Amino acid sequence: MTRLAIDYDDVAAAHRRLEGIAHHTPVLHSTTADASTGARLYFKAEHLQRVGAFKFRGGYNAVSLLGEAQKRAGVIAFSSGNHAQAIALSARLHGTRAVIVMPEDAPEIKIAATRGYGAEVVLYDRYTQDREALGRALAEAEGLALIPPYNHPHVMAGQGTAAKELFDDVGELDTLFVPLGGGGLLSGCATVARARYPGCRIIGVEPEAGNDAQQSLRRGEIVSIATPHTIADGAQTPALGDLTFPVIRERVDDIVTVSDARLVEAMAFMASRLKQIIEPTGCLGVAAAFQAGEKLAGHRVGVMLSGGNIDLPRFAALVHGR
Ligand SMILES: *Cc1c(COP(=O)(O)O)cnc(C)c1O
Repeated sequence: MTRLAIDYDDVAAAHRRLEGIAHHTPVLHSTTADASTGARLYFKAEHLQRVGAFKFRGGYNAVSLLGEAQKRAGVIAFSSGNHAQAIALSARLHGTRAVIVMPEDAPEIKIAATRGYGAEVVLYDRYTQDREALGRALAEAEGLALIPPYNHPHVMAGQGTAAKELFDDVGELDTLFVPLGGGGLLSGCATVARARYPGCRIIGVEPEAGNDAQQSLRRGEIVSIATPHTIADGAQTPALGDLTFPVIRERVDDIVTVSDARLVEAMAFMASRLKQIIEPTGCLGVAAAFQAGEKLAGHRVGVMLSGGNIDLPRFAALVHGR
């Protein structure tokens, strides 16, 4: 049997690297949410993390662990989302160069935010250009290290520090709900939970429109699907990674799905009751907890709020139209 990509010690080491650099984000409560489920819910506020999402944890850990020569040369990432900003800021904090490859129709606000962190943005046409080939050519020509958004042991270990902090702060939980795209966050969090509280049920949550991970867990092999249509843009991944899947298969109890309609309800709830702006993908865990409802009665339940990056007009349009 091959060894899994990460163990608890990797997460603990990442946590030491991030100390004083990543925010130790708060844990939020809502009496109304507790009353509607009968559970005690602990919301881990990673939307308040640097760059507005947990992805800073994995990005910073991965850049930290590059060799000195590579650190001087710089890094490259493909992303139009939170990973782009995470790598841009991580590179800046290490005084190195970041090149981010983004589709030219990415939202202007995201391109501007990534440039704002000091990264060089290279735009490509997603209909005619192959971003992998473009990225590889750039990486090779300029000696840049590619940092993937989830399928990398240092990224996975970094993401797991969000769960480590949650357990450090609140102790044992009966259930932990974690948003799921390519599985970096879930594999990291499950690794922590299994090591510290083997009885805690770890539930990955993906959008109903793209249940590739649920199918993968059931079939015991990675299932790929077409890019799903969902408002949860951080979870529009077609498949788990070859490093994240084995960890998820070994350490995760179940994967559930939620509809876009439930995501919008969860966003509205978090805004009106907890006064928190959470992006659709960031609400996957919240929506799953509400969906489970009274099945959670009497339990201590952790819910990862994974990110908060959404334009206000888009947020308003989503919650207004419900
Ligand atoms: C990237 C992202 C996810 C999914 O994380 P994976 O590690 O790809 O599973 C969930 N929520 C937010 C806000 C994200 O940015």
